[in-house]
Amino acid sequence: MKPSIIAIDGPAASGKSTIGELLARRLGYLYLDTGAMYRAVTWVALEQGIDIADEEAITALAERVEINITRPTVDDGRQYTVYANGQDVTWQIRRPEVDANVSPVSAYPGVRQALTDQQRRIGRRGHIVMMGRDIGTVVLPEADLKIYLGATAEERARRRHREVRERGEVADYEEVLAAMRRRDKIDSERKAAPLRPADDAIVIDTTGLSIAEVLARVEGLVQNPKSKVQSSNGKGRAIFRRFTRSFLRLLLRLFTHLEVTGLENIPQGGPLLVAFNHLAYLDGPLVLALLPQLVEGIALEDLYRVPVTGQLLRLYGTIPVHRDQFDRQVIRRALRVLAEGKVLALAPEARMSLTGALEQARLGVAYLALRSGAPILPVAITGTETVPSDLKRLRRPRLTLTVGEVIVPPPQASKPQARRQQVAELTDEIMHRIAALLPPEYRGVYAPTPTPPPTLGEGSSNSPSPRVGRGG
Ligand code: C5P
Repeated sequence: MKPSIIAIDGPAASGKSTIGELLARRLGYLYLDTGAMYRAVTWVALEQGIDIADEEAITALAERVEINITRPTVDDGRQYTVYANGQDVTWQIRRPEVDANVSPVSAYPGVRQALTDQQRRIGRRGHIVMMGRDIGTVVLPEADLKIYLGATAEERARRRHREVRERGEVADYEEVLAAMRRRDKIDSERKAAPLRPADDAIVIDTTGLSIAEVLARVEGLVQNPKSKVQSSNGKGRAIFRRFTRSFLRLLLRLFTHLEVTGLENIPQGGPLLVAFNHLAYLDGPLVLALLPQLVEGIALEDLYRVPVTGQLLRLYGTIPVHRDQFDRQVIRRALRVLAEGKVLALAPEARMSLTGALEQARLGVAYLALRSGAPILPVAITGTETVPSDLKRLRRPRLTLTVGEVIVPPPQASKPQARRQQVAELTDEIMHRIAALLPPEYRGVYAPTPTPPPTLGEGSSNSPSPRVGRGG
């Protein structure tokens, strides 16, 4: 049986509307682009001179404005016609001022409530392809097929830039990219219904794929829902990950003294790079057990040859990497994970510390952050290095995990030399932030030099001085 309710989510310019429209046409289904509804509210607010920061007024507007989306009424290249309070606003809602204000408007819970109710009423009738940011997670969690389209920010900015120029308007690529990142950030970090793939969504990275290729994959899923099971993002893996996490939490609670601080620093949604210091095998599992989100991981290739550990890594679906070759394929896979708005954990030192103190970090984490624009969450771990000896002596290991404030990477420079410099500086900043969360004896090569005090944190939107962590 063909799926009757199809949800397609993803960030701006991920190909949702093109794919959604083609699919709906082939199936003879209704097609609803929910982004147009948020845009319509934003446009009316701007028209009526309502302050976008006035949550109450904007919410009241969303509750009373009448939005209608119909088949195209004019043959001018539009996919559909959008009416707001009876006025055709199809093109107005694509204007840059709407682009710039729609994300703050759609972050208001009251606005979402008003529009979500309407979307549900339409969606539950079935025979529909609905596009948005939260269709699979919030609007129609019961959808028969959930697809999440992702692509790197650069690829999406290139597409949007081309579209704008094809409409005969001027646009600067760097500006389009910056605006795209701003919107991604608000959409994925907001509290109400943030942009993220549903656990049972099929995630397709459309970077480098043509429309025909994406459509073929989506149609394959519609015709043969069984192929969902084989997907690397299928339900099976999500269940295994949840089970692993609960089991690890139980073991930690039963057999260790655990002190976790700073969880409030973790952003609610959106892509995130978790950078932790590496003392022992247990560090990766500790991070995945204790973070509230399901975490994707990168693990050293050698571990895949260890019996049991190797099988568990494969089942969990970590990305294998060779310590000295952070190669293209790993980078591509890691960027794809981030483009999908997921959390990726890795150890910048790329191996366990031989001394228990921080060692010189590799450049991979900073490189990924600059390429993807994903914020970095510094995480400091202590105590895992003595777990085997503690357990042998029947002592409860004392473990700590401290989460610092996120570091937002600067926009990537355009010149290669400046980019290299950025990667080196960001790597240093990440490691110094981790060091500041650790007791002095763990800080190793990133211990602060006594005088003059280092000026860390510059170029980041966070606190300018490194926070001194426990014991420091
Ligand atoms: O998809 P489109 O770019 O037209 O969406 C415009 C904006 O509307 C998004 O950036 C997002 O802030 C908001 N939106 C949303 N939830 C949806 C659809 C769109 O928050 N389901």
